[in-house]
Amino acid sequence: MKVIGGVAFSIAATLLFLRVVGTFPEMEVPPQWFGAGAVCAAVISTPVCIFLNLQGRKIAELHARLSEAYLELERRASIDQMTGLSNRETFLAAIDHHPARGWLVVGDLDHFKQINDRHGHAIGDQVLEKVGEAIRLCVREEDICARLGGEEFGIFLPKASRQTAEAIAERIRSAIEDLSIPTRAGEMVMPTISIGASNRGASSLSDLIERADDAMYRAKHKGRNRVVFAEAARLERIGRVRV
Ligand code: GH3
Ligand code: MG
Ligand code: MG
Repeated sequence: MKVIGGVAFSIAATLLFLRVVGTFPEMEVPPQWFGAGAVCAAVISTPVCIFLNLQGRKIAELHARLSEAYLELERRASIDQMTGLSNRETFLAAIDHHPARGWLVVGDLDHFKQINDRHGHAIGDQVLEKVGEAIRLCVREEDICARLGGEEFGIFLPKASRQTAEAIAERIRSAIEDLSIPTRAGEMVMPTISIGASNRGASSLSDLIERADDAMYRAKHKGRNRVVFAEAARLERIGRVRV
């Protein structure tokens, strides 16, 4: 269609040009020139229009592929390849820009170095994958999950009440406790996780992370494989409650 349009345009332009030339004094254009002009315009413009049309299609195709590749690159740069969860940078930026308050849950696998040392790095990697899957199955659609690095995971629960945050954190802990990953030697690896949680409230991102980390370390010190909320961790530290 574009080719026909282009050829028609070039014939029309040639005829108009001959017409304009014929209006000048002493510049008479014989009628047969109009026919010859139209034929010449059609003969020259047809291959040119076909060529330009094909080139246009190729450029459009390349442009579409480039856009797809760019989107894929952007997606890959934002996720952790091993678990398919967000990576640390994307996660922190998402929390920072999130309009809603909520809870930050930070989990660190227990004695993970021993799992690597005893069963090998490949099994350690499998554990990380399974943990990523388990976390994804425990959260709500609006929650953001990430592998923060190594054997550490983060989950942001926007608009969650403390009760909801407690339920989700406990569900994650329990789901990981229920995992068992078989090794080639016929053993079962059963990971556990220590979880800390803090409320975003009006606090800054760094304060939020610090309080969640702090609670997570409390969970480690209390014997691992448990959930500790930041407020409880703070009260314990200043000695107002005994645990
Ligand atoms: P804790 O209960 O105190 O957290 O002890 P831990 O052994 O889990 O902690 P530690 O920091 O001593 O060890 C973390 C280990 O995680 C060490 C490191 O080799 C391993 N690790 C980090 N990233 C990866 C990874 O991508 N794959 C595997 N297989 N191991 C990893
Ligand atoms: Mg760690
Ligand atoms: Mg650990």
